[in-house]
Amino acid sequence: MRSSVPRTFRQITRNATRLNVPRCRASGARWSSTAAAAEEEGHKWSTPLAKQLTEAITTTGPIPVASYMRQCLTSDLGGYYTPKTSSQNDQFGTKGDFVTSPEISQIFGELIGLWVVAEWIAQGRRGAGVYLMEMGPGRGTLMDDMLRTIRNFPPLAKAIEAVYLVEASQNLRLAQHKLLCGENPLTENSIGHESTSKYSPDLRIIWAEDVRFIPQDPTKTPFMIAHEFFDALPIHVFQSVPPPQPPKEGDAADTIETPTGPIKNPRRLPQGHQWRELVVSPTPLHRLNEGEPEFELTMAKAATPHSMYLPETSSRYKALKDVDGATIEISPESLAYARDFAIRLGGSNPETSPPSQPAAGRKAVASAPREEAVMKDEPSGAALIIDYGPASNIPANSLRGIKQHTRVSPFTSPGTTDVSADVDFLALAGSAINSSPGVEVHGPVSQALFLTAMGIEERAAQLVKKAMVEKGRTGEGKEELTEVVKRIEGGWQRLVDLSPQGMGGLYQVMAMLPFRPEQFGEEGKKRRPVGFGGDVRL
Ligand code: SAH
Repeated sequence: MRSSVPRTFRQITRNATRLNVPRCRASGARWSSTAAAAEEEGHKWSTPLAKQLTEAITTTGPIPVASYMRQCLTSDLGGYYTPKTSSQNDQFGTKGDFVTSPEISQIFGELIGLWVVAEWIAQGRRGAGVYLMEMGPGRGTLMDDMLRTIRNFPPLAKAIEAVYLVEASQNLRLAQHKLLCGENPLTENSIGHESTSKYSPDLRIIWAEDVRFIPQDPTKTPFMIAHEFFDALPIHVFQSVPPPQPPKEGDAADTIETPTGPIKNPRRLPQGHQWRELVVSPTPLHRLNEGEPEFELTMAKAATPHSMYLPETSSRYKALKDVDGATIEISPESLAYARDFAIRLGGSNPETSPPSQPAAGRKAVASAPREEAVMKDEPSGAALIIDYGPASNIPANSLRGIKQHTRVSPFTSPGTTDVSADVDFLALAGSAINSSPGVEVHGPVSQALFLTAMGIEERAAQLVKKAMVEKGRTGEGKEELTEVVKRIEGGWQRLVDLSPQGMGGLYQVMAMLPFRPEQFGEEGKKRRPVGFGGDVRL
């Protein structure tokens, strides 16, 4: 979901039924000749990626939704964020596919900058070793608005050692570089690329394609921001199916002949529900010719390695296992990011640190270091995650496609459609807390609540006043001023709109902070961060 798309919960539910159980047939041999047969029948692939995916599935069998999403978004053959042609360059804005909050109002990035300032103050104003990190910075607008705001707090601006940007898209990296660094040259370095900020020649801006490339230095204080990033990380989808009917007592199938004599059919032993993975298969030929999307969801015929492992990793999933048809979405890559954030903030749990796993469906990161225990003497920094998704439920049936501000099937022309899914905030919180003894989580709270507490209305009033003073100075026309005021007012109100399709309620904000026992106040109450019930003390 992206902001300008009309979207109600009813719409989600309607879409969900389309993708849901009744349409999921067990994947079988029907698709096995689709790639060649479709071409023989004159089918023109919507994109080169559609053809490649069909051929791959023809060889290997249906693929997890996570692999499909990964390919659609960042395939070398032309993914949504890694297009082959420059005509497909800009996903953002009225001419693109969606509009995001930082593109709607400069106040969004300014308030996130202020949140970082407030946290930096609350944690004792470190004079050095501060990192700013952003995951998936899009056009770079949010980071630019943050840096402009932080410049007004020189001790923090001076303490920032580097800005790290995690970006998979080369085109967007170039756009970010232009906005944040102007004419300063972009060079390659050992983890990706780097340049210097247009605001200060001393401030390095460094790009990496994956957060794991960025050094985990326990002496640093990282402030990490992820706005509309987690919704782009691949999900696996599972559905609970009832146990197969056991043969009746006395049926021939009740016993099985073996070389050592008859034994009781093991299917007669009590069996429970099983998780089955929903996978992506090519649409059968006859329906393909009717103009249907080239892929569809089917149910794996048997357990897959993912379905045996992932749904067993949390009691939240286990609680749904015996509910016929219950559907859950799990994003192991998102959990790995939350874990990474937590370790950067609070150090790792030495006893429970597994070796780092390559994220599902993701190209192996050849030079990614093995995860080693990170001992952090004093937890510090913060992470702010802003995205859409239920505050506490496990997302289900949330895979969606967006094209030119309209919701479409996620299986429409793969590589040119934005594919995303709801974020499971509680799962991120759990991953963070389990990964580090030095981390606590606040929220999620609605974006409306967060931005209102951060002073969005007051900042808008300030901007309107500034525009008026400017007008007095430049003698600008009345119409121009009216336009500017309309943009400022319309922008901030849209961000906190609590109507059913409004961004204020659909987006949630969650913070990870260092857990420090001394933060408990006199009444034994924990300090609350600004925007989550705490005071702004600047
Ligand atoms: N935060 C921005 C952009 C959101 S769109 C805004 O609010 O305007 C998602 C961003 O994440 C894009 O910059 C996209 O290129 C990047 N992205 C998507 N998947 C990624 C991945 N797996 N690794 C790194 N970056 C990714």
